[in-house]
Amino acid sequence: MATYSHSRISTYENCPYQYKLRYIDKVKVDVPTTIEAFMGSMVHETLEFLYKNKKFKKRVAKNILIKFYRDLWAKNYSEDILIVKAEQEGLKADNYRKMGEKFISDYFDRMRPFEEMTILGLETMDRMTLPDGNQWHVRIDKLGCDSEGNYYVCDYKTNARMKDQEEADSDRQLALYSIWVKDKFKDAKSVKLIWHMLAFNKDAVSERTDEQLEKLQQEVIEIIKEIESATEFPRNQTALCDYCVYKEQCPSFKHEAELDKLETIEEFKEDEGVKLVDEFSEIKTKLSELKKAEDEFRDKLIQFAKQFEVDVVYGSNKKCSVKEFDKIVLPEDREKLIKVLKEKGVWEDLVTLNYMKLNSKVIKGELDKEIKDTVEIVKDFKLSLSKRKDVEEE
Ligand code: SF4
Repeated sequence: MATYSHSRISTYENCPYQYKLRYIDKVKVDVPTTIEAFMGSMVHETLEFLYKNKKFKKRVAKNILIKFYRDLWAKNYSEDILIVKAEQEGLKADNYRKMGEKFISDYFDRMRPFEEMTILGLETMDRMTLPDGNQWHVRIDKLGCDSEGNYYVCDYKTNARMKDQEEADSDRQLALYSIWVKDKFKDAKSVKLIWHMLAFNKDAVSERTDEQLEKLQQEVIEIIKEIESATEFPRNQTALCDYCVYKEQCPSFKHEAELDKLETIEEFKEDEGVKLVDEFSEIKTKLSELKKAEDEFRDKLIQFAKQFEVDVVYGSNKKCSVKEFDKIVLPEDREKLIKVLKEKGVWEDLVTLNYMKLNSKVIKGELDKEIKDTVEIVKDFKLSLSKRKDVEEE
């Protein structure tokens, strides 16, 4: 039996190949800390410090809390922290430090005297057993309750996008923690899920019924079942690839990662892959230009043949026959045509096998095994050229 978490399951949902690299092959990679993550972690630690003191009846003034945050930032900040994305938006590390400071200050003013609940746990870590025997990782930023049996599962969020109600009501991570709370605290009458959206100084709140939780738990078990029985882990290229730390191992980005390591433009141009793609692309462009030219000459030859009333046009070494012929145009209402062909008993004779459809259905396993067994499956390649979005056109 394994331990699953919201992040583990999400990894599989986003890209099964990334899941394989991370959880099955256990590939070790350096995961750089981004400035956004660093700021989030400093804010979390500062608020933990606030509530820890509160638990021991020690009051922390706002200026002390801000000082704690500033000192923590100064102690932990290092030049390795990635600020690439922030820099693209003209932001510096210091902007993030100030942002975090504002989040803490606003939260402090809004929640003072911090008696919204009795704190039961801070950065709580535990595991719960799912009905299928697997473990589910529990990690709660702030867990509390009141005297009426209401429990609160709280998460601090420092991201710049407000969670709307629909998103809060469909969030899987905190919802599953409700089950853990209900199991641990038998007096729990309700479990409220609260996201402290610090950038907006607002909370997003959600609550689930027992039926909803049961359904959610079942869905999670189904995904786990799918993961555990998976034999193939396809890559899923999306915008999230930009943040993937496995690009050097991913066949879709490995070559790009190798090129990024080259120091000079000469080295880049000498790369075997670069040369092949550049030449292939050139040939494809020429072919499409030639196809266009072929169509133009075809039209011109037809015009010539019509004008001079000939059906063979002579060149130096070759001659070109230009023959007019009749052909049918299929009606828009195909069903009607098919019906007539069937009625007249000629359908079987005229119908052709739709190779593309058959191929796709067999490969996707959508057809009967008997059908699959009548064909042979071989490996082939499909090459498609597309523009590199990270490169400016010359
Ligand atoms: S780079 Fe994209 S496709 Fe490749 S493993 Fe990462 S998420 Fe998957």
